Amino acid sequence: MSPGPAAAIAAAVRAGERSAASAVQESLTAIAAGADLGAFNAVTAEAALARAEAIDSAVAAGEDPGPLAGVPVALKDNICTRGTPTTCSSRILEGWEPPYDATVVDLLNAAGAVVVGKTNMDEFAMGSSTENSAFGPTRNPHDPGRVPGGSSGGSAAAVAGGLTPLALASDTGGSIRQPAALCGIVGMKPTYGRVSRYGLVAFASSLDQIGPMARTVTDAALLYSVIAGHDPLDSTSIPEPVGNLNGALAGDVDGLRVGIVTELCGEGIDGDVLARLEAAAGALASAGAEVGEVSVPAAVFGLSAYFLIAPAEASSNLARYDGVRYGLRVPAPGAVDMNVATRTAGFGDEVKRRIMLGSFALSAGYYEAYYGKALKVRTLVMRDFAAAYERFDVLLAPTSPSVAFRFGERTANPLTMYLSDVCTVASNLAGHPAISVPFGSGADGLPVGVQVMAPALGEDVMFRAAAALERLLPGTQPAAARAGSAGAVTKGTAP
Ligand code: GLN
Repeated sequence: MSPGPAAAIAAAVRAGERSAASAVQESLTAIAAGADLGAFNAVTAEAALARAEAIDSAVAAGEDPGPLAGVPVALKDNICTRGTPTTCSSRILEGWEPPYDATVVDLLNAAGAVVVGKTNMDEFAMGSSTENSAFGPTRNPHDPGRVPGGSSGGSAAAVAGGLTPLALASDTGGSIRQPAALCGIVGMKPTYGRVSRYGLVAFASSLDQIGPMARTVTDAALLYSVIAGHDPLDSTSIPEPVGNLNGALAGDVDGLRVGIVTELCGEGIDGDVLARLEAAAGALASAGAEVGEVSVPAAVFGLSAYFLIAPAEASSNLARYDGVRYGLRVPAPGAVDMNVATRTAGFGDEVKRRIMLGSFALSAGYYEAYYGKALKVRTLVMRDFAAAYERFDVLLAPTSPSVAFRFGERTANPLTMYLSDVCTVASNLAGHPAISVPFGSGADGLPVGVQVMAPALGEDVMFRAAAALERLLPGTQPAAARAGSAGAVTKGTAP
């Protein structure tokens, strides 16, 4: 089990062996050197250094700043930070500064972490490549001519490029796991309700979850442990206490029942990705796991259901951007004209497409045929998963159907972009936890991620399998380590 860079920084800072200020400065230097990646929307250098000094003073005074002492963390720009712009990479939030911190931000601060900035994303988290950002795309640190995945491409590139050891992101249909896979890092979506959504800008409220990105499974578990737990400010928050994951991370997979999901390994999944999945399954089997195949029949309809439910909820959630309450206002005579002008100028094409799709799916006369039917499919997905988990402890599938693709490759036809999510949306529909772990490389030497899924509140067994996979294969080197420095991998051609 590799301790991971975040765990090492926290241990050294707590022991007084290194300063939080040096750790934060190192990260800020790497962020500046890696500016070409387009990973950050904002870097909060001054506040981060001041906070690092406060942590160092606490250590000097004999206090323990917490399990993430001095660890630099990047936040996806849909997580509210008091007094720092939270843009969702959208023009419509221009100039808006949240009056409060998200619960996860409070928890990070209480654990001694240092927020260093806000990361780029697909506008309002709608996309799979970060090409839908109003501020320009993020590049993949492994190949600057390719996308980092999305919608949390900025957070993934920050971690993979060695700019920060940790990042938080959000996952509605795969936005943590898919970019993690494409960038060769670990990304995890917790059980729905396990991490507070208070202060996460809503996309599709019944699917959204905040989760960790890290270079190792241990670091992801460390960050998850800090942010998980009940929050009275989120009415969907789970009251059960969060267990300790140490046993899971050190545990073996002897006798663990691992099911490979047939429906997620068929048509549309590239051969190089399937080869890595087979290698992962073989490695688990050689470590004593009982590996078999399992059918989750409704999984094939997951994508269609997701692309009705998520836009339906988005069309409602995004109604609040009316030119009055947040950010941008384009003046026009009369409230309705002002509202139309603001939304026309403020939202990008994909966001408009989702609002229209969602409004249509919810409209009288179509509601039952589209939204109602999608909800029924969602129930079937849950039932099929429940049946699969009677026979297996965890399920295995690819995270993404392909390695990182080139800029522009999937922008012409939205459906080709939507297919990027085919392996990840089912866990969101079911509300289950899932993690992507790097497991070697595929086409063009680019990273491939393998996805471990578990039943609701099965984080323990999910991390057990993930840690085993990491041990069984060192995985791809983080891009920064491969290229020797964070800056060296960022010089690329414009997409
Ligand atoms: N790529 C998916 C979408 O476009 C998922 C996004 C997400 O998880 N935020 O909706």
